[in-house]
Amino acid sequence: MRKVCILRLGHRPERDLRVTTHVGLTARALGADGMYLAADDHGIVDSIEDVVERWGGEFFVENDVKWRQCIKQWKAKGGIVAHLTMYGLDVGEVTAEVRERPEDLLIIVGAEKVPGDVYGMADYNVSVTNQPHSEISSLAIFLDRLFQGQEMGHKFEDAKIRVEPCKVGKRVVEL
Ligand code: SAM
Repeated sequence: MRKVCILRLGHRPERDLRVTTHVGLTARALGADGMYLAADDHGIVDSIEDVVERWGGEFFVENDVKWRQCIKQWKAKGGIVAHLTMYGLDVGEVTAEVRERPEDLLIIVGAEKVPGDVYGMADYNVSVTNQPHSEISSLAIFLDRLFQGQEMGHKFEDAKIRVEPCKVGKRVVEL
C-alpha cells in the first residue's frame, strides 16, 4: 500500500496552532500516514502524538522540516506531489488519475500564501472549487475523493479508547 503524507506550509505558531493541529487530525482520521510541518512548533507534535497514543494507529508528525528539501527528497525517492490550491485543476477531474498512480503521495496545504515555486514543483495543483476556503476542508474532501470513502472503515491499531457509535448520547469504550 502506498504512503500518503501531508506537507503543511506557512504555519505561524502564534496564530495557526488550532488549524494546523486540525490539518494533522483530519489527515490521520481520513487515512493519511503522517504530516511534515514546515515550521518549528513542538506543541503541534505533542498534541497529535497524544491523540495517536490514545486513539491508536501509526500517524507521525515531523517538526521543522525545510519544505523545499522535503519535496525534493520525496520526489527523489519516487513519490508524487499534489498541491491543494484554489487555482488548480478541479478535484473531480484530477483525483481519478492521482488514485491510479502507485507512487507515494505528498499532499501540500498552505496557510496564508504559498511560495510560487510550489506550483511548479507539484505534479498536480488541485482545487476543491475555485473559491477560497480552508486547508482543513480541502484536505478532507481530497482525501475522501482519493480513498473513495474507504477511509471511513480504517482500523486504528493499539487504541486505548474507541467510540461505540450510538443513536443518542456518548459511549466511549476503554480497551
Ligand atoms: N489563496 C490561497 C490559495 O492558494 O488557495 C488561499 C489560502 S487558504 C487560507 C490556505 C490553504 O487552504 C491554501 O494554501 C490551500 O492549501 C487551501 N485551500 C483554500 N481554498 C482552497 C480551494 N478552493 N481548493 C483547494 N485548496 C484550498
